[in-house]
Amino acid sequence: MAGKVTLVGAGPGDPGLLTVKGLRALLGAEVVVYDRLVSPAVLELIPDGARRIDVGKEASHHPVPQARINQILLEESQAGHNVVRLKGGDPFVFGRGGEELETLARAGVAFSEIPGVTSAIGAAAYGGVPVTHRDYASSLHIITGHAREGAALDIDFEALVRTKGTLVFLMGVTAMPAIVKGLLAAGMDPATPAAMVERGTLPGQRRCGAALAALPARAAEMEIHSPALIIVGSVCALAEELCWFERLPLHGRRILVTRPRERAGTLSDALREQGAEVVEFPCIRTEPILPCPAMERALEQLADYEWLGFTGAAGVEAFWSCLRGMGRDARALGNVKLAAIGSATGKALEARGLTADLIPEICDGAHMGAALAKKAAGRVLLLRAEEGSPALPDALAAAGIAFDDIPVYRTIHDNSRARELRTELEAGRFDYVTFTSASTVRGFVSAVGPDADFSRFLGLCIGPQTAKEAEKRGIRVRIGGRAAIDALVELAENLSAGEQDL
Ligand code: SAH
Repeated sequence: MAGKVTLVGAGPGDPGLLTVKGLRALLGAEVVVYDRLVSPAVLELIPDGARRIDVGKEASHHPVPQARINQILLEESQAGHNVVRLKGGDPFVFGRGGEELETLARAGVAFSEIPGVTSAIGAAAYGGVPVTHRDYASSLHIITGHAREGAALDIDFEALVRTKGTLVFLMGVTAMPAIVKGLLAAGMDPATPAAMVERGTLPGQRRCGAALAALPARAAEMEIHSPALIIVGSVCALAEELCWFERLPLHGRRILVTRPRERAGTLSDALREQGAEVVEFPCIRTEPILPCPAMERALEQLADYEWLGFTGAAGVEAFWSCLRGMGRDARALGNVKLAAIGSATGKALEARGLTADLIPEICDGAHMGAALAKKAAGRVLLLRAEEGSPALPDALAAAGIAFDDIPVYRTIHDNSRARELRTELEAGRFDYVTFTSASTVRGFVSAVGPDADFSRFLGLCIGPQTAKEAEKRGIRVRIGGRAAIDALVELAENLSAGEQDL
């Protein structure tokens, strides 16, 4: 089959700014060739099965030369692959997209182009700068501030000043003082509002606003680095009022999310929506214990049980694969009632067409045990984690209820990124670390090392059991108002707003 290349604009960084069409192309890609400026959050959207080729850096830290990139695109598409060429912002705005498509056109390779949100407009917008405005600017000019090696800037400053429009310089951080000098020499008012937006649309976005003549000093003071835009024009004065992104409750906060890999999504998304920079540290992942002869035996005799209890979505998954592996389906459950420890476990049951008969008000073993003890008369089958807390079986035993407790999944500790994270944690680079279960605390501590300095961040815990486990390891904790993900997000917002003292 003939291959093809789709040139896709990834937008300035926020993955929400990728177009619907761009996302569709990405999800269907077999090979993705991407640049340095494509944000990690967008790269996370690349499907697992797709091969990634990073042309933004090489071992020597020099980018891959354009001729070599063109050659990679040709080779991969001619080998029959569906190739997505992913570029920061819009591919045709200082992105060499045109050059790459020319190569493909000449070689007769099928191609198409999906525009992206250029940083010139997108990063400005997140910085509170509307690039045109009826009262201030009626034209927009996008200019490169990059000079060819050894050459001076080739910009007609007089012409730019005459436009009276908004000027946006890309690739101009190094040349910024020269650009400002050029504009002033061409007669621009030194009081003209100007701004720089660094890492625009990304959680770490910073904005630097100043009158044109003062911009170099202000940017040096703030140590503004690439990637950043320089915006010059009256519209920059609106930023103080319109910089909505910087006002998000968690803007500037860096949060480590320690949920198991498969389940990190919702919490991370909710925190990001409030402006936080989220780093996912899937320090534990769950693995079903399969084959599991004890579970098989119990499932053969399901009719002997009145209740079936699950303490995690992973338990539901292990139960379901075991049942299906035995050639049976939901009908095997007959009249057995189902208990789930919390809403995520309840959802895992729902996904299989099963509704939980009981979910305790508070999501932990002790409350599930108490709730079951009240309702159960017959035998209970618990399908749990290998290292599950004793609170649940203890509560059943205390109430004199007969039960079988079978471990059906285990938690695997994943230490691959631990060293790097420890350094960052100890340097105070995280404000908060979220813990959604006692086992995430154990996974986290064993990954970064129990002797690490835990004093530089606050542990945000889903409930008292999780908090107890964290405190035992010397972590300073705060507990959410309810045992739910949205309560954790709320807790972070309140702390960030300084409503609770640290
Ligand atoms: N095709 C890209 C631009 C590539 S040139 C686009 O349409 O956005 C690279 C320059 O873009 C950088 O030097 C910087 O000036 C700007 N840039 C890219 N992403 C940015 C971001 N997130 N915030 C601020 N500037 C950005």
